[in-house]
Amino acid sequence: DEVVSQIAAGEVIERPASVVKELIENAIDAGASAIMIRTEEAGKRIIEIIDNGCGIQSDELEKAVMRHATSKLTNAEDLFHIHTLGFRGEALAAAGSVSRMRITTCTAEGNNGYSITVDGGKITGIHQTGTKQGTIVQVTDLFYNVPARLKFLKSDVTERNQIEILISRYALAYPNIRWQSTHDGKPGIRTTGNADYREVLTAIYGVDIAKKLIEIDLKEEGISVFGFISPVALTRSNRREMNFFVNGRWIQDVQLNSAIIRAYQSLIMVGRYPIAALFISMDPEEVDVNVHPSKAEVRFRSPDKVFGIVHRAVRRSLIFQSP
Ligand code: ADP
Ligand code: MG
Repeated sequence: DEVVSQIAAGEVIERPASVVKELIENAIDAGASAIMIRTEEAGKRIIEIIDNGCGIQSDELEKAVMRHATSKLTNAEDLFHIHTLGFRGEALAAAGSVSRMRITTCTAEGNNGYSITVDGGKITGIHQTGTKQGTIVQVTDLFYNVPARLKFLKSDVTERNQIEILISRYALAYPNIRWQSTHDGKPGIRTTGNADYREVLTAIYGVDIAKKLIEIDLKEEGISVFGFISPVALTRSNRREMNFFVNGRWIQDVQLNSAIIRAYQSLIMVGRYPIAALFISMDPEEVDVNVHPSKAEVRFRSPDKVFGIVHRAVRRSLIFQSP
């Protein structure tokens, strides 16, 4: 039983950032307009997400942290040797099975809040408690019962960066949500939820960089490309600072990366990358988002068209606006 939930957890929860991702997505799904993320020790000690979303009804609370049954395994040793597809609807169960988790929640209709505690996958209590509308999920001592996984984690700095990069992507994708993160008491990203991209970029890169980013905006053949890129002088050594959102979802695409890099052509030094936050909108029929649900990859129906437009949008802005 314990084994089964740990397998599911392994699939969904690889590292602290995976927990943060799942909890953020739940908060967004709940319609939150403000999301606070707090971590300690790179999320290994504490991950806490507070949202002001719809909350979970008291009679749904137990179900929310429970997993689906599976008959595939009986032995804990097999845990790292199996690849099972599909753990959707199991994120909370997964997080709860590899940590000590507490969810405190209240709906708009609910007169009372409730809190449920889970320890290594076992529900240890449900209590009535006072709380505001919304949900607080606290995940403590992540992987305390799966030491093998703890060993695979990178340094605290790396794990914390992963978390912060992840949050910044969601902040860009949802600029209408007020984001706030702290790590070991130090402030991370802070936004107001005013749907102001420049403000979110300032929160991520600092004002000096954000104010120099060049806005791009091009519409062609039903595809629109809007966003921000760095002037040549502001390139960086990190490829990860090129972020693409297709119809609002953050995606990864090697060819989009190179469409941008090619637009900088000889202007950019080898091993340097622009900063980019590009929002590409198109008819949902034109993009298949179900290629790799977890890996954030998509398939365009007319890839060359998309890459061409992105390339031109970037090229044009560089030529006309670069200092
Ligand atoms: P999924 O998100 O795929 O449904 P999860 O395990 O992540 O599965 O969450 C289980 C359920 O718990 C969700 O379907 C939702 O009903 C509820 N839930 C989880 N987190 C929140 C939240 N922050 N606010 C409101 N409801 C939540
Ligand atoms: Mg979820």
